[in-house]
Amino acid sequence: MHSELIKLEKTFQPSILKKINDPWLEQRQIELYIKRDDLLHPVISGNKWRKLKYSLDHALSLGSDTLISMGGAYSNHLHALAYVGKVLGLKTIGLIRGEQPLVLSTTLNDIKRWNMELRFVSRTDYRLLRQYKNYDTLPGLKSGEYWLPEGGATNLALQGVAELITEIGIPYDSFCVPCGTGATLAGVAEVASESVSVLGFAALKNASFLTADVDALLSQSRNNWQINLDYHFGGFGKINAELSAFIEEFELKSAIPLEPIYTGKMIYGIYDLIKKNYFKPGQRIIALHTGGLQGKKNKTWT
Ligand SMILES: *Cc1c(COP(=O)(O)O)cnc(C)c1O
Repeated sequence: MHSELIKLEKTFQPSILKKINDPWLEQRQIELYIKRDDLLHPVISGNKWRKLKYSLDHALSLGSDTLISMGGAYSNHLHALAYVGKVLGLKTIGLIRGEQPLVLSTTLNDIKRWNMELRFVSRTDYRLLRQYKNYDTLPGLKSGEYWLPEGGATNLALQGVAELITEIGIPYDSFCVPCGTGATLAGVAEVASESVSVLGFAALKNASFLTADVDALLSQSRNNWQINLDYHFGGFGKINAELSAFIEEFELKSAIPLEPIYTGKMIYGIYDLIKKNYFKPGQRIIALHTGGLQGKKNKTWT
């Protein structure tokens, strides 16, 4: 790996495994652990570092001087990319979904401050950008420019995500992951044991397309994973009072902060599935905290 990336990673905090002490879980004989990737770095947190790491290494090995990617106005991916670009001395360009708003979101203000060039693209053009999956496939790419698809979802992303599985030193029955593009889930499924059930929680409505996307990312077909589509709460970024109350209660009892877009919906889903006897008594579940807490600074998400 490039020396600048090794140097940067040395400044990271460890992602610990934290057991949730909750009498409600004990009654049902379920053990729940949280893999705290949110602790890795205050900005390049969670799965965004895992997914970016080997793409950044690839970009540096090619001598690229500019990273281009796409995302919404609250994108954790662009937020991490802008910051890491600044640290590595690389130029960054963000293709932002939709019209330029009159007032920038806190996320966009941050990434502008870190010198990412913002280019607003129509929702139609944004959708078309999703077809460019490889680092050199964006039309009009100039020499020195390295393209990262939405969410950094590349084959190289899986390699970085896989490392978090090797950090886990205890046996477990289920591994839960929130899903946007499904790249994090794919990275986990690729290396998790066949006997572990890897369970994704879709943050978007109508996300049945995720299964094909995950399959396309996997280097070989795996039977150890599935994606639950029931806990999107009306769609990406949609929140209701029940979800907010659940998150508040969980944060109080666990002292682990959640955000409502991904991790809050996943933990809600896990508790609801436990209630519905989806997990057998005696099972141990590990849920991945994918970070994303920067988004909490925005007043709205959608
Ligand atoms: C981006 C993000 C996800 C989604 O990850 P994918 O690899 O795109 O599925 C999940 N959780 C958080 C907090 C994120 O920022």
